[in-house]
Amino acid sequence: MNALAPQPVTQDVFRSEILRHLTFTVGKDAAHASVHDWRMALSHALRDRIVAPWFSATRRTWAEDRKRVYYLSMEFLIGRILEDASINVGLREIAGAALADLGQDFASVAGTEPDAALGNGGLGRLAACYMESMATLGCPAYGYGIRYEHGLFRQEFNGGHQVEFAEDWLSQKHPWEFERPECAYDIGFKGQVEVKGGRSVWHPGESVRASAFDTPVVGWAGRWANTLRLWAAQPTQHFDLKRFNRGEYTAAAEPETLARTISRVLYPEDTTHEGKELRLKQEFFLTSAAIQDILRRYLDTHSDLRALPSKVAIQMNDTHPALAGPELIRLLTDAHGLPFEEAIEIARSCLGYTNHTLLPEALERWSTWLMGNVLPRHMQIIERIDEDHLASHPKRKHYVGIVKHHEVRMGELAFIMSHRVNGVSALHSDLVKERLFPELHALHPDRIINQTNGVTPRRWLRMANPALSSLVTNTIGSGWEDHLDRLRELEPHVEDRGFRDAFAAAKRANKAATSNWVAETTGVRVDPGALFDVQIKRLHEYKRQLLNILQTISEWHEIRENPQADFVPRVKIFGGKAAPGYVVAKEIIHLINDVAEVINNDPAVGDRLKVVYPANYNVSMAERLIPASDLSEQISTAGKEASGTGNMKLALNGALTIGTLDGANVEIRDHVGAENFFLFGLTAHEAVERRNDPEHSRHAIEACEALQVVLQLLAEGRFSPDQTDRYLGIVDRVWHHDYFLVASDFAAYRDAQRRVDDAYRDPDGWARMAALNTARMGFFSSDRAVRGYMKEIWKTTSAL
Ligand SMILES: *Cc1c(COP(=O)(O)O)cnc(C)c1O
Repeated sequence: MNALAPQPVTQDVFRSEILRHLTFTVGKDAAHASVHDWRMALSHALRDRIVAPWFSATRRTWAEDRKRVYYLSMEFLIGRILEDASINVGLREIAGAALADLGQDFASVAGTEPDAALGNGGLGRLAACYMESMATLGCPAYGYGIRYEHGLFRQEFNGGHQVEFAEDWLSQKHPWEFERPECAYDIGFKGQVEVKGGRSVWHPGESVRASAFDTPVVGWAGRWANTLRLWAAQPTQHFDLKRFNRGEYTAAAEPETLARTISRVLYPEDTTHEGKELRLKQEFFLTSAAIQDILRRYLDTHSDLRALPSKVAIQMNDTHPALAGPELIRLLTDAHGLPFEEAIEIARSCLGYTNHTLLPEALERWSTWLMGNVLPRHMQIIERIDEDHLASHPKRKHYVGIVKHHEVRMGELAFIMSHRVNGVSALHSDLVKERLFPELHALHPDRIINQTNGVTPRRWLRMANPALSSLVTNTIGSGWEDHLDRLRELEPHVEDRGFRDAFAAAKRANKAATSNWVAETTGVRVDPGALFDVQIKRLHEYKRQLLNILQTISEWHEIRENPQADFVPRVKIFGGKAAPGYVVAKEIIHLINDVAEVINNDPAVGDRLKVVYPANYNVSMAERLIPASDLSEQISTAGKEASGTGNMKLALNGALTIGTLDGANVEIRDHVGAENFFLFGLTAHEAVERRNDPEHSRHAIEACEALQVVLQLLAEGRFSPDQTDRYLGIVDRVWHHDYFLVASDFAAYRDAQRRVDDAYRDPDGWARMAALNTARMGFFSSDRAVRGYMKEIWKTTSAL
């Protein structure tokens, strides 16, 4: 037994702890408690059980003077906490039984928890998985983020259109966090820089206070817990009583309103960069608060800042926190008097940068005017970093630097200020070298490395899929949760018919439950025996939901043309949000909903094809849909998806992938075996070549009659009878502006879908392939990924 593990607790004791919190924390009598009250009481009882490992982990880190990892991320897509935490501290069963004693149902109670959506998609969810894995591995770490009052918007459909509503996760008390009013830092903006006695002094023109809120993150088996520290913005100036007393009520509250704006709302853009001042302020707010906190903690027990890199590793999740370099240099030089040359080396030894995208529209750039105005001292430091780099590499072409065309390029800044830069899949890391930073890579050939993404098996298998988890445990024993490679031990059992039947039965049970959920949420009845074909992810042209829906239309047409033919029944399931300003993505959402309306109400089709699009895809919906999926759609234009993690969650849960050679699909296919993966489409290099033909779409359309039919149906307004020209824009794009090569990949995709149908006609063969996917996905645990970061970037070891 590990000395740090939480003390065991009986059902009776835990029940009385829930009741004690209901009485003394919530202030309710059991006779009058609502489900919400029960959730608060249960959450507090569970949180108590996390505090012990949390304190002992913190004490041990101090006592052993351990190196700490600081994970800076503008997004943490956390989802619900209650059930995940209860599983990690080993109390899921006891909590369920104790609640049942009290007349309450665990799932109903846990289901009232708001889904914490402080992120847009994959990047934010990765940060949450890594926090959980760092805790599981006993890697002393802090996550730093922003405590947005409003997370990602809630999505509804109105007449098939996406409509956005403000999300309100903090409207109820959040039981998992501890407010730390004593831990706060001033964050400055604007103003002037003065040189005094050889040192620069920044006099900010505005300032806000960053105030900490801590959430413990407990790892598997409760062996270790780290802190997720989220910053809330508060006014530095106090409420102006004089103005208030003069009757200027609104003006009196102005500093407060200004400050709060900074942590008010998560920017809903994913893979786009808008260049707005508020966003720059948010990024600096997070970064400055984190760097000040890191230095304060280090200086509590150390005095030599030159040794900082031996105790501090700072990871930048994308370029959003890339001001960490300049801010650390500023504090080391202006506040602590180190020479610039030393400060830049110290900062670089601490910093690592994870690149998440090659899409040009996502690469952050700020006008030098805006940067100089909002952060005048940092603008000077950035120029100095650029000069220093050019001086150390005199053969560097001038255009390779950080400042170009009156813009600060955050990718170059992050690269130059980091000792390691990593991509998030093998293919992506190669493309980062080849296409994104070729010149910098030539100057620093050892800097770019790969760390293929991973997902936590605790949330994404053990919690989300109890049916499959039980089968795994019954087959190979427990312990696979933190040694996911052990899933390999399933392989010999896959040869056993009984095991395959049990595997198929678990999937079938999940699909039956999800059919009921689909009927409740969308009103569409779907047959649990049909093939569940799932594409759930943010809406983006590069992810090609359009390709999927065009193929769906083709399938519908075929059923109508050959009503007697033997079709494999399918349910097409879509989920995902579009950025509110992304017009084309919203048009595709409208199209999917319009197509669903026509197909689902076509008596000639019946149960052979259904299309459902439940609104408001989030972590909880992913946990519901992934265990019920047969087919995982990973069909991005090759070279555009950095890694993907949805692809990993689905394959781990026994969905077969239909996909391109993009992102981590390449490695997933290598692991599960080419014969258990439906591959199609152009490769990343072929895609680039293909675009050299200016008429690539026309050639592809002319070569594919099925695609001609689909485009004709769309152009005729068959899915928009109330407005027949609604989709002319989409048709025109496929013909003439098909940058993402939908037309070029259509025929191969349709062909791959035929192969899927053929495979699904053999249920036992399908179960075999699906089970082999689960058995061979162990590599994609976020534990493996975090171990890679620890060894190759952070130079740190487990404290367990
Ligand atoms: C895993 C996950 C994602 C990322 O999905 P991709 O298919 O990799 O883009 C996005 N959103 C949620 C809610 C997720 O759980």
